[in-house]
Amino acid sequence: MATEHLNFINGKKVPAKSGETYENRNPADQDDLVGVFPSSGGDEVSAAVEAASAAYPAWRSLPAQARGDIMRKATELMRERKEDFAQLETREMGKILKETRGDVQEAIDTGFYAAGESRRLWGTVAPSEMPNKMCYVTRQPMGVWGMICPWNFPMAIPSWKLFPALTCGNTAVIKPATLTPASVDAFVGCLQEAGVPDGVVNIVYGSGSRVGEALLNHPGVSGVSFTGSSEVGRRIAEVTGKTLKRCSLELGGKNAQLVMADANLELALEGVLWGAFGTTGQRCTATSRLIVEDGVYDRMLEMVVERASKLKVGNGLDESVEMGPCVSAGQRETVHGYVEVGKGEGARLALGGEQLTGDGYDKGFFYKPTVFADVTPDMRIAVEEIFGPVLSVIKVKDFEEGIKVLNGTPYGLSSAVYTKDVDRAMKAIELIEAGITYINAPTIGAECHMPFGGVKDTGNGHREGGWTAYEIFSEPKTVYVDYSGGLQRAQIDNA
Ligand code: NAP
Ligand code: MG
Repeated sequence: MATEHLNFINGKKVPAKSGETYENRNPADQDDLVGVFPSSGGDEVSAAVEAASAAYPAWRSLPAQARGDIMRKATELMRERKEDFAQLETREMGKILKETRGDVQEAIDTGFYAAGESRRLWGTVAPSEMPNKMCYVTRQPMGVWGMICPWNFPMAIPSWKLFPALTCGNTAVIKPATLTPASVDAFVGCLQEAGVPDGVVNIVYGSGSRVGEALLNHPGVSGVSFTGSSEVGRRIAEVTGKTLKRCSLELGGKNAQLVMADANLELALEGVLWGAFGTTGQRCTATSRLIVEDGVYDRMLEMVVERASKLKVGNGLDESVEMGPCVSAGQRETVHGYVEVGKGEGARLALGGEQLTGDGYDKGFFYKPTVFADVTPDMRIAVEEIFGPVLSVIKVKDFEEGIKVLNGTPYGLSSAVYTKDVDRAMKAIELIEAGITYINAPTIGAECHMPFGGVKDTGNGHREGGWTAYEIFSEPKTVYVDYSGGLQRAQIDNA
């Protein structure tokens, strides 16, 4: 039975004023109705921002450690429900259970990290240039944060935003992706049960154009945390730029794995299979390009095609399945559109290139694992984010060309280099234009206590994950305490 969900505003279930709803269905099986959600708009956003503003003074005055305790309790509830949450996530988003268990676990890790971090919201103390005076910096919450989430990590990404923001003493209004609202509902349910007061976290369901825009433009919102495409990210930056709100952007990627001729090819193979076809290629850190040094190119390509052709595609609830569907019909069309582009550009289709049909496939948005060989760096399939199970394989003559090709996209999120030469690995770390570099490991695999994010069109300099997330969600306050008993004038008395 599908559950009918309502917005969550000030601790209460609230329908959309319009009365409109939308259905959330399983991308592996369109007969499976996961839930019905309200199609909300500006009115619900305003009510949620008001509730979050009203709840802010009391929440920020709680000791941080008390907020951290609530985060811990919520996380314990998530741990108890991990398997149910993973099943729910697979049903609404499509990725296989092994991965949705990982997604929920990432949220759990982030929650426990937040509980610990609540005791370490450290500032800095510095000596003063004057006698009998001290200077220090402490961190303060900012008010109401608007959070806008994508569908590919339905619980982990909301947790990267909510846990640190709440721990810092902010309140929040979150807009889940239209395609994956149920995971946010489940997550926020744990926060509420753990004792997060009414109004501190609010959920408004609905489209980016209505709910997202209303949240961005609301004067009561102090900051916007956005994860999604670079295209929408530019829109968020435009509005928050005009209104001088803080905005943190985690955007797209066109990640590459560079394989040098001296690499352990078996290891590189495992890496690229997981990186390119895990989550059906729908990760911001997915391996979309495999750049291989001449000499091992033919062998590597052959190995990839051979293994990718054997990947079992199907409904992610089946434990034996290795790759689920695309998240939606639209996403699958986008992927196929890129396949047509690749063929038109003269790349050689070595595997896949079409949707999967027939028994077990007709009710979902399945696409074959796809490999393009002989891709050249100027082709669109070598430069643009595809966000599907499509790998572009590119041959380079040496390390220098490899790095140049790797850097030849507007994005800069993740990267991987396979080599046994430590000097070259170190040089690659120095030269690669990306927020994350892996050595002898795939482009995916972020750990929750480490900064996460990218350079160039992938973001605007912030890093979620780890301690840097706490810098996003707080403002430094510089304090001078003068205990001299007289007027001391910086830059003047000392000159
Ligand atoms: P998207 O289309 O940019 O949507 C992201 C979110 O923004 C959704 O909640 C969407 O609402 C909302 N939105 C759309 N238009 C908006 C507007 N004008 N104002 C405010 N909000 C708006 O991205 P997606 O398709 O969900 O996710 C895929 C993209 O996310 C890829 O580019 C991927 O690389 C990127 N991503 C990046 C990271 C990272 O950390 N760097 C992580 C995961 C994903 P609807 O749901 O209603 O469309
Ligand atoms: Mg769905």
